[in-house]
Amino acid sequence: MKQSVKINTNGLKSFIPEEKIYELLSRKSNDKGRIREIIAKSLSLQRLEPEEMAVLLNADDAGCIAEIKEGAHRLKQEIYGKRIVLFAPLYVGNKCINNCAYCGLRCSNRDIVRTTLNRRELEQEVGRLEDKGHKRLILVYGEHPDYDANFIAGTVKTVYGVKEGKGAIRRVNINAAPLDVEGYKIVKAAGIGTYQIFQETYHRQTYGRVHPSGPKSDYLWRLYGLDRAMEAGIDDVGIGALFGLYDYKFEALALLYHAIHLEERFNVGPHTISFPRIKEALNTDLRQVASFAPSDEEFMRLIAVLRLAVPYTGMILTAREGAAFRHEAVNYGVSQIDAGSDVGVGAYAHEDDDNGNRKKRQFELSDNRSLDEIIGELCDGGFIPSACTACYRSGRTGEHFMSMAKPGDIKKFCTANALLTLSEYAENYAGIKTREKCRRLIKKELQNYPEGRMKQALAGKLLQVENGGQDLFF
Ligand code: SAM
Ligand code: SF4
Repeated sequence: MKQSVKINTNGLKSFIPEEKIYELLSRKSNDKGRIREIIAKSLSLQRLEPEEMAVLLNADDAGCIAEIKEGAHRLKQEIYGKRIVLFAPLYVGNKCINNCAYCGLRCSNRDIVRTTLNRRELEQEVGRLEDKGHKRLILVYGEHPDYDANFIAGTVKTVYGVKEGKGAIRRVNINAAPLDVEGYKIVKAAGIGTYQIFQETYHRQTYGRVHPSGPKSDYLWRLYGLDRAMEAGIDDVGIGALFGLYDYKFEALALLYHAIHLEERFNVGPHTISFPRIKEALNTDLRQVASFAPSDEEFMRLIAVLRLAVPYTGMILTAREGAAFRHEAVNYGVSQIDAGSDVGVGAYAHEDDDNGNRKKRQFELSDNRSLDEIIGELCDGGFIPSACTACYRSGRTGEHFMSMAKPGDIKKFCTANALLTLSEYAENYAGIKTREKCRRLIKKELQNYPEGRMKQALAGKLLQVENGGQDLFF
């Protein structure tokens, strides 16, 4: 039976204080002493207040910017260590009843070939991704009555059911339209990880301009979309803004206000923050929709400031950005990246049909490296690629996760779990060169791991993986 969404925004008010944001952004100064105090607060793992984040965003002196980036770098190392979590997007269907001006899938774009994967096609896509070694996926959907809560839940179950060779998907996240509480409960019961919704722009007037019709034109319905997810018991949620639609500093502060709103209401902030920058899309004129796109320099600084503002929140940077940019951004706060991605429906099973895939894609990607290449290059840079799903599968989510993540304790488990998943990748999926790089890195990290029982246990589990063990974690 179709589960139609009941849109109701009665009594809701925006929690984004636009006038206050403008006022904060008008306070220009490069007060090094104040900036250092704020960085020190972040390094003690406390979330910043909007006033403090604004000081960092407003700094434009080269020395201050260097200190902000250095602070973000230290924080990244202290909380997340060298781990970078990897995932792949899987587009399930590109039908859409919205008309988002920036998106290739908008309903007025007649050149897009509209497709929804049937069960067999979905299994094929998942099989391809498992063959390559993926363990974490995000399923993506247009907004359409066909993609109701029951449909989404069914696709999640299908994905978990595919076991190709030694492969299995261990975490399925969702990026789909906002649901009502009943709908979220159905999707949660299918065993999802994070539910992600991007507000696109928090600036209400711009929001109205770029979302002229369809359910998405309702700003408040979307703004409260993750409140409803939390009311339904989904405690890992992901927020985001699409950078380019409006002033990037405004959006950055609005993201912080959103995080604070969730913290105040549910005692737990967002699990992740995404900050996609607008990309070319079929029949989409970027001059009209991306006039506020930050430069690379501004965008990197923004990543550093976001890192400092919400020290314990995962930060995702997708293949919309090029390889070199992503490689640098992992130093300043990014903790999750996608790899070997395609954003066309059915594209993984039809890799060679690039022209066909182009007409089913939401936008163009800039980083086309394979999972194997990305893993090899991360190892070269001293990072530990991770496919870990241990926290979510051990119930360490939401508030529980935050209580561990905040004091930085999680790093100890996470490094061990990351090494176990990397070893699994090396032994079962890696190309020859990448396997050697992974093995060298694992050996070095094990040598440097703090002495004690945990180190012995880790060494034992790594040996088990080398001998064919699967899915071992702490
Ligand atoms: N259709 C659902 C929705 O809009 O919430 C699911 C997500 S949509 C398929 C994925 C995200 O892609 C959007 O939330 C938006 O931020 C982003 N996006 C859309 N058009 C884009 C473009 N031209 N460049 C980069 N990102 C884009
Ligand atoms: Fe549809 Fe989402 Fe694209 Fe908007 S961003 S047109 S809702 S797929």
